[in-house]
Amino acid sequence: MQSKVKWPENFKRTKARESILSVLENASEPLSAADIYSKVDGKGEEVWLSTVYRTLDQLVDRGVVIKATITVGGKALYELHRETHRHYAICLACNKVIQLEDCPLENFMLKIKDSQFKVTGHNLEVFGYCIDCKTKI
Ligand SMILES: [Zn+2]
Ligand SMILES: [Zn+2]
Repeated sequence: MQSKVKWPENFKRTKARESILSVLENASEPLSAADIYSKVDGKGEEVWLSTVYRTLDQLVDRGVVIKATITVGGKALYELHRETHRHYAICLACNKVIQLEDCPLENFMLKIKDSQFKVTGHNLEVFGYCIDCKTKI
């Protein structure tokens, strides 16, 4: 699958790199390096977990991929750097990550004068139990 993401400059195109980017592009939630590794298809090229880690680092450096603000089970998660950001809810029982429909802080207004602080972003972590686990607790 050809990635629709703008290819970073000075970044050699390889099948493995293209595949890693397209896995992230098609993901509905942030993925760990191991998740990505399990989905990558190098189309004949050998892809190692270390390749995935290295590629992720390079993509983060280039601003194409960001480290998600949530971690599940202590693992770093990665997602595409999109124009609109996303928030996620994490299930405390099964670690499932669910994308929230929109940003609850979209219309949030800081109660201090604009001149005193410039907001450039925010983190939000929502946790609880998913529908499957809710019935078991
Ligand atoms: Zn759950
Ligand atoms: Zn937000």
